[in-house]
Amino acid sequence: MHQDLTPDDNSLRDVGQIDQRQVERRLQERERFLRTMISNLPGIVYRCRTDERWTSEFMSGGVELIGYAPEDFTETRRVAWDDVMHPEDRERVRAEVRALIEGSAPFNTTSFLLSYRLIAASGELKHIRDRFRFVYNGMGEAVALEGVITDVTELMLAEEERSRAEEERVSLLALEQRARREAEQEREAAEAATAEAERARARAVRANRAKDEFLQMVSHEFRTPLTTIKAAARVLLHNGVSEEERCEYLETIATECDRQIDMIINLLDISRLEEGAVDLKHERVAIAEVLCSCERIERHATQARRQEFNVEKGDGLPPVYGDAKALRRALCTIIENCVKYTPEEGRITVSAELWSPEEVAVHVTDTGRGILAEDLPHIFEKFYRGKVPNAPSTDGTPDDAAGRAETPGVGLGLYLAERLIRAHDGRIEVQSQPGRGSRFSIRLPVWNEAAHEPDRADEYGFEEDTQS
Ligand code: ADP
Repeated sequence: MHQDLTPDDNSLRDVGQIDQRQVERRLQERERFLRTMISNLPGIVYRCRTDERWTSEFMSGGVELIGYAPEDFTETRRVAWDDVMHPEDRERVRAEVRALIEGSAPFNTTSFLLSYRLIAASGELKHIRDRFRFVYNGMGEAVALEGVITDVTELMLAEEERSRAEEERVSLLALEQRARREAEQEREAAEAATAEAERARARAVRANRAKDEFLQMVSHEFRTPLTTIKAAARVLLHNGVSEEERCEYLETIATECDRQIDMIINLLDISRLEEGAVDLKHERVAIAEVLCSCERIERHATQARRQEFNVEKGDGLPPVYGDAKALRRALCTIIENCVKYTPEEGRITVSAELWSPEEVAVHVTDTGRGILAEDLPHIFEKFYRGKVPNAPSTDGTPDDAAGRAETPGVGLGLYLAERLIRAHDGRIEVQSQPGRGSRFSIRLPVWNEAAHEPDRADEYGFEEDTQS
């Protein structure tokens, strides 16, 4: 019975054959479906060996994308993947795959991504992305690659276009910024030019005012001695002037003439100095000799005012650099001021010392009226005249009648002296206490054979002064 119930061998075989056919049909159906899928995929599905040429074992119809048929790779093997890969990418791709193989464990199922370029049969360049997995043999060796290649050329071109547009935008922006900066700079330059013009205008106004003041002062300075000279001359014209009076008037005339000459010389020297028309000598100057001639020149004036006059000449000091006559002129001007601003029987001292290995200093000290602190910063300015400290007989200004009589001058001496010292790369400083005297210190560079050029000028450009 049992046997009846059991299908016989043939019927069993039939059933088995039916199942197998069904399975085969299903398999065929699935394969057809897969093939259709693969051939319709927007890319190339491939399997290739990991050998030198990337020999293809399977290639989908998608390879027509680059102008080849799948059989070119898998049957005739007319081309290998290595041939279509851009020559500049071949080595890199090989190295990247090698590194992936070495860096991943056997039977790894991770998918990897490569980007490279292909050259289509038409010669056209294609940018592609290759997403693949390794296929391992039984020993765990990666023997093949299976993957899908997609054409990203359009994407790349779009990306290139985008970055070109971005670059263009950035450079346009930079251009715009530069133009804006330039406009800003031009605006600043215009503002600076306007400010400079404004300063120049202010300078011109100041110079004009200074010139007016100067003319006023100069005419005043000239008029006063001329009036005195004229008055003396008129008296002399009259009969009845005693011999003694005649001598006195003639002496007055001579003194006033000297003052005028002094002032004219100062003015001429200053204008030449300011024009740059003074040709100073550059030679070794023994400071002792300069001080010796200053002493000779000024001795008479100090004696006239019964002042004590001591000159320590600083024998043995190293020579300084410059022009002996110009230096003497500057020092004499300073000494003359000391004589002028120190009362009778006061004391004037001149001394020299080695200030540093590079500088010799000359100090001119007096026991005179001193300089007010408010005047100190200005006394080297052109036409500046300091006030008279604690003046019982004047109104405090040097140019009121009593002040002028006490200290004639136009405020040019120290200006000229300072310019001359500066032209020697030297400097001048002053310390003073009203009522106790002043000390002028002049520092001059020591002659240095290597640094100082030999003299080229033969002529000292200054007017010979009356004192030389
Ligand atoms: P000035 O013709 O007035 O003497 P300077 O240029 O020679 O002109 O000097 C400028 C001012 O410096 C003087 O007006 C005076 O106030 C002050 N001064 C210069 N030297 C002395 C000094 N030795 N003692 C006091 N004051 C001085």
